[in-house]
Amino acid sequence: MEDFIHLLPEHLANQIAAGEVIQRPGSAVKELLENAIDAGATQIRLLVQDAGKTLVQVIDNGVGMSATDARKCLERHATSKIQSVEDLFQIRTLGFRGEALASITAVAQVEIKTRRSDSELGTYLEAENSRVILQEPCQCPEGTNFLMKNLFFIVPARRNFLKSNQVELRHILEEFTRVALAFPDLFFSLNSNGQEIFHLEKGSLKQRILQLLGPSYNAKIIPVKETADYLSITGFVGKPEAARKSRGDQYFFVNNRFIKSPYLHHAVMNAFSGMIPADSIPVYFLFITLDPTHVDINVHPTKQEIKFEEEKMIYAFMQSAVKYALGQFSISPTLDFSLNPEIAHLPAVTQPFTAAQRLASSETSIYKDFTRQHQAHLIDSHPNALKNWQEVFEIAHPNPPSEYPVSTHASPVLEENWKESVSDQKIPVQIHQQYILFQIKSGFILIDQQAAHERILYERFQKALQGNSVPRQQSLFPQTLSFPAAESSLLTELLPDLQVLGYDLELFGTHTFVIRGTPGDLPGGNDQTVIEELLNQFNLFTPDLKLDRRERLLRTLAHQRAIPSGKPLSGKEMQNLIDELFACSFPDYSPFGHPTYISFPLPEIRNMFNKK
Ligand code: ADP
Ligand code: MG
Repeated sequence: MEDFIHLLPEHLANQIAAGEVIQRPGSAVKELLENAIDAGATQIRLLVQDAGKTLVQVIDNGVGMSATDARKCLERHATSKIQSVEDLFQIRTLGFRGEALASITAVAQVEIKTRRSDSELGTYLEAENSRVILQEPCQCPEGTNFLMKNLFFIVPARRNFLKSNQVELRHILEEFTRVALAFPDLFFSLNSNGQEIFHLEKGSLKQRILQLLGPSYNAKIIPVKETADYLSITGFVGKPEAARKSRGDQYFFVNNRFIKSPYLHHAVMNAFSGMIPADSIPVYFLFITLDPTHVDINVHPTKQEIKFEEEKMIYAFMQSAVKYALGQFSISPTLDFSLNPEIAHLPAVTQPFTAAQRLASSETSIYKDFTRQHQAHLIDSHPNALKNWQEVFEIAHPNPPSEYPVSTHASPVLEENWKESVSDQKIPVQIHQQYILFQIKSGFILIDQQAAHERILYERFQKALQGNSVPRQQSLFPQTLSFPAAESSLLTELLPDLQVLGYDLELFGTHTFVIRGTPGDLPGGNDQTVIEELLNQFNLFTPDLKLDRRERLLRTLAHQRAIPSGKPLSGKEMQNLIDELFACSFPDYSPFGHPTYISFPLPEIRNMFNKK
């Protein structure tokens, strides 16, 4: 009988394996840059031609290779980075699988010039089809100069799969940017078809971000820094107004390795919730650093997907780190730090744990850090903030109050009156029944009454769902309400949350509900219309916004019940609105991401009048 199974020739096996690691010129860029970093280089130059299709070259000043190593590095499973299974869990280098160069040599022509510092002569080597075809000593600088030429020249089918130069160059830029961001303390340059596109001197992370993405980022990003025993999160997030409708500059790094994580992205999105329009994506550059034994980076050939041991903790930590950073940046008076119930109740923290898992994780230091009171990253609004927000506001916006322009022309008496009536009493003024003008020490602010009230209600409802129940008024006569099938099934879903929010509402029969009470501050009477409107509004949120049901409900209610534009307000109502707005955790934006107020600092006003 004939046997059918035979071993693939090594070259073919390499070519097949290469498919996983080297899909396009950009993949080679990533692998070669990573090798240069692992080799301890401080200066790394990348040169490409025809978007890398003809040439990808990386020149580094790292440790270089001996003649034998230069030969060996092209073989499959050839690596200097791990030796045993244990090493696999302690990886501190970017590479470790020993596949990249073997894969490249299987699908492209390779030239290497390399020299170690301890030898005078370097090695020159040419390879293709997984075979070394020339090796000889040469003169060359210390470090490694690696050329990959004519990618896929022997696999035309795959060459045809490559996209236009424009697209492939974009992939290269993407890989280059990721690596350059992760190592701001190294010099990088990128040269495409003979033109230098990037020349990145070493510097801080912020400088690197500005070098890569433009100086306009200077005013757009705020620092994030949270440290615990188990992990730290550092980096920058964009201010809410820098968020865009399309994906772009979102970067996570774990131990300086770029990774993709929809899960952690969700955590960041949550932290921004209510501060940006729901279809916008914030910019971020976030670095997670933790002991390598707590991550498995070997779950994917290109190592961009990884597994965390304590995924849910990292989620919660990420969310609160970003939230805290945003709170710091905002003028919000969030200065009293206690455990944020929103985070404590986060499903990611509580739900999926089994008793055993919970016990185990409550032993870990991250959990202890996380639940300890008075941690900087645990935020909540100040209970007394209602009174002293102005002080905080003035501190957060340090405009020189000393040169406060008291009119020098006014008579002493007049001046006193003026100061008394304008400066101390500070009466808010409504403008066009839509905006509130209010004087503060450093100038004045103009508040959008509707946006401001939406923010206030939104946070009030949020608190209600966390257990601060809302006062109700009982109706004298319970009413039955009926709705069409679709609405009533939606209403049934919303019932538990609505009850917490002060609606005493119950299912009564098919498509029928009985309402016995409504939130205290809601004028009673037209319950059927109010609920109908609520359901309509709720449905207006397009489903692709991916907000969960609760979040949609909160925003719907905030919008529905907010003081509308066009409503006249009394002085007292305005004063309350202002105080309550600045007692919010995030007073700057409505839950829909619109600004709630605009501030006019005196120096700017003076400038407008051309007064110096
Ligand atoms: P890995 O990085 O996973 O070890 P590679 O195929 O990328 O596998 O590289 C194989 C080996 O070649 C590395 O372990 C390293 O010893 C050596 N090497 C590759 N690139 C360089 C370089 N630029 N400088 C010095 N040594 C290198
Ligand atoms: Mg490598």
